[in-house]
Amino acid sequence: MKLTNGSKIAVIGGGPSGSFFSYFLLDLAKRSDTHIHLDIYEPQDYTIQGPQGCNHCGGIVSESLVQILASEGINIPTEVIQTGIDSYVMHTDVGSSKIDTPLDEKRIAAMYRGAGPLKSMGLTESSFDGFLLKLAIQNGATLINKGVTGIDIGPPKPIVKTKDGDSDAYDLVVGAVGLNPRSLKMFNELDFGFSPPQPAKTYITEFELGKDVVDTYFGNAMHVFLLNLPNLQFAAIIPKGNYVTLAMLGDKIDRDLVNSFLNAQVVKDCFPRDLELASINPCKCFPKINVIGAKQPFCDRVVLIGDCSISKLYKNGIGAAFITAKAAATTALLYGISKKDFTDHYWPACKKLDFDNAIGRFVFGVTHFIQKRKSIKRGLLRMVQKEQLKPGEKRYLSTVLWDTFTGSAPYRSILFRTLKPQFWSNLIWKSFLGLFPVKIKGYKADFNKQSRSLGKLYQHGEIIVRQGEEGATLFVIQSGKVEVVQTKDSKEVHLAILTEGDFFGEMAIFEKDVRSSTVRSIGQTRVLTIDKKTLMNRIQDDPSLTFRIIQKLSSRIRGIDHKISHIRSIDRRNWNTRPEQLDDRDKGN
Ligand SMILES: Cc1cc2nc3c(=O)[nH]c(=O)nc-3n(C[C@H](O)[C@H](O)[C@H](O)COP(=O)(O)OP(=O)(O)OC[C@H]3O[C@@H](n4cnc5c(N)ncnc54)[C@H](O)[C@@H]3O)c2cc1C
Repeated sequence: MKLTNGSKIAVIGGGPSGSFFSYFLLDLAKRSDTHIHLDIYEPQDYTIQGPQGCNHCGGIVSESLVQILASEGINIPTEVIQTGIDSYVMHTDVGSSKIDTPLDEKRIAAMYRGAGPLKSMGLTESSFDGFLLKLAIQNGATLINKGVTGIDIGPPKPIVKTKDGDSDAYDLVVGAVGLNPRSLKMFNELDFGFSPPQPAKTYITEFELGKDVVDTYFGNAMHVFLLNLPNLQFAAIIPKGNYVTLAMLGDKIDRDLVNSFLNAQVVKDCFPRDLELASINPCKCFPKINVIGAKQPFCDRVVLIGDCSISKLYKNGIGAAFITAKAAATTALLYGISKKDFTDHYWPACKKLDFDNAIGRFVFGVTHFIQKRKSIKRGLLRMVQKEQLKPGEKRYLSTVLWDTFTGSAPYRSILFRTLKPQFWSNLIWKSFLGLFPVKIKGYKADFNKQSRSLGKLYQHGEIIVRQGEEGATLFVIQSGKVEVVQTKDSKEVHLAILTEGDFFGEMAIFEKDVRSSTVRSIGQTRVLTIDKKTLMNRIQDDPSLTFRIIQKLSSRIRGIDHKISHIRSIDRRNWNTRPEQLDDRDKGN
């Protein structure tokens, strides 16, 4: 069972997983000269504000996903990013602490999944899901603006039906329906062993505060709350232009819990004193989140991806959608579309996420334990506040907390980093001190004003990479351009100009060597870094990630080849026209 020229695929659902699948499958098909017809069925219109155009989410694109997308050549446009996050404040009922990004750079994006909250003004072209869907369509997908109401599994081929009576047969049906109960039932009834994921009820709302208030009280910082409230794992307030989004994650979150949260003093303190939160009529909902993954999300010619398969516990669900979508796309195109192909090549990616979620449950178990103990919370805050005075790489607890709440690293990496005797002895000592209820120093609300871009801004002439220095990061240009130069015998030789979407610094990643040239900004340039570790981990899971890098390197070698042959031809012409020089050279030799 293979996809061949003329094969047809139906993707049911045009959320992140459906769009990622379509984008990567069509990309791989183009590279392997296979013509595939791919239909995306999606009834939602991402240009409509409010619930009708929204896929209900906190809207954080994690640090690791921003980096992976950049290395895939996908730069999230500025109009989609509402805020680039550069810090967060951890709030507990015994005090709060501000934690800055471990790097001097913004690598987390806050965005709207749809076109923004109900009746919001001045938000255009801002939907993240709309942006991804557009990418898939640009790569050749056809959008069918209808919901799928039935599937007949065949044989010979599955048939997809819509409400208006239309039906079509496909070689492969991809379920990317999120946690929509009716759609999950539709797959469950196909009786191939699929059992839907187990969801938990969460809460999400948007408060319109105005840009000035959001800038002053929240800026570029995300606020995370670890409060001792039943069923609440954690809550986050995320600034987005005129609005802030509140997401409450846990199990069975209801109106009473939401009210208890909004009435907690530490929450009220984040907002202007005279503001009555209940009086703002916000856009709100109680969406479900995947907490335990699906069983057997595939059979011959059918595969489920994203939230309706396996997700990431409480964070980075879009990152998990990316991982499952890409694994399913590479399996379908490179190996085949039988149950065995999906078992051998798609399921391992899901199992890895599932295993990480088991560790995540332990991490959140520990967090829950801490939430209930004031002395440990005091110890934790003291430790974080002390660490924030040290340089980035020495901030153990801060980076662990950063990754736990921003979704920037797998749970296993977070757990391993805490397995240090020094870490625990420090926390136990600080928690012991925390038994004495000394007041914790408050945080200063000196936030950077919201900005809608990621990465770091360099001014004209500023050096981004210096020849001879050690480095372990790859750089992707978000906007602007840079000049690459090499110094030899005290002379500077111009090598290249690189622009938006180009990357540099790859040699220091793949060879253990110093930077071979200097790169400096021409005008203002915004550059995003990609960590060696993040890149290597992802390449290990998904070797196809290197394709773009190899493609770029190959085109650079071709460019150098052209330059060399050009120089040679000039040289040859000079020799032919000036034979006396040839004689001179011969003499010299
Ligand atoms: C409160 C909350 C906060 C969250 N915050 C974050 C966060 O900050 N960052 C993060 O990374 N993740 C977050 N998540 C998780 C994230 O929202 C999901 O993991 C992600 O949306 C999964 O993408 P998906 O494409 O699989 O599903 P979805 O985004 O749910 O998309 C499914 C799509 O399928 C369509 N569909 C459904 N049925 C049919 C049908 N029968 N026919 C055609 N189309 C259909 C729907 O219209 C929808 O567009 C959060 C989740 C919740 C609940």
